[in-house]
Amino acid sequence: MRKKIVAGNWKMNMNLDEGHELVAGILKGLPALNNDKIVVIAPPFINIQHSYYQVEDTDHVYIAAQNCSTENSGAYTGEVAASMIKHAGASYVIIGHSERREYFNETDAILSKKTDTALDNGLKVIFCCGESLEVRDAGTQNEYVEAQLKAGLFHLHKHQLANIVVAYEPIWAIGTGRTATSQQAQDMHAHIRSVFAAQYGQNIADDLTILYGGSCKPSNAAELFACADVDGGLIGGASLKASEFLGIIEAMMHA
Ligand code: PEP
Repeated sequence: MRKKIVAGNWKMNMNLDEGHELVAGILKGLPALNNDKIVVIAPPFINIQHSYYQVEDTDHVYIAAQNCSTENSGAYTGEVAASMIKHAGASYVIIGHSERREYFNETDAILSKKTDTALDNGLKVIFCCGESLEVRDAGTQNEYVEAQLKAGLFHLHKHQLANIVVAYEPIWAIGTGRTATSQQAQDMHAHIRSVFAAQYGQNIADDLTILYGGSCKPSNAAELFACADVDGGLIGGASLKASEFLGIIEAMMHA
């Protein structure tokens, strides 16, 4: 059985005090999670260790980084190594968010290397993919997303797929208030699963957690999470308020 996950991507928001308050608020209202329904919180690097200490005694809540270096150590000023992220308490790292691809010029080759570095250092990877509005309007979103997945992930061995989560995040839905319809999300998630089935076999594809991201909020989460191939969400804006994030977690619990 694949896991359901609600993951919060704080992006470049929350100082240490604000982050502390937010995590405390989330923990206060958290329902009873289990092995198959988990929560991941991705604060900025500087909050990782503090957030980890807050959640370490709560089962099924994990910390993620939002990025990691391609390199393991050395003279790379300003970079943060996957081993450091792991040592600070994180279990996951988000790789290939559309903001990293667009604003920091992260290419498929870079993202593929980051994925390897993260896995080699014991982190699980939340690998993001998703098309622009231009691609969606041209009707070529399936091919586009498939190409991103092939370039970023398909060099991996079968056994490594247990440590991969895919997040489908149509760029036109991120932070825009414009959510993909549940049908659009389901169609793409089913396509992604079929692409993994063709490459790695149906069992691996069936076990792969595929998250939806893009203006997901308490009011639309239940409908999105009810889709057969939508296994939870990667949440941006709505992860910054405990009440909203908890509302989305509730939707996962009832999905
Ligand atoms: C994101 O950036 O991962 C995201 C899904 O953002 P939002 O929920 O704000 O659209």
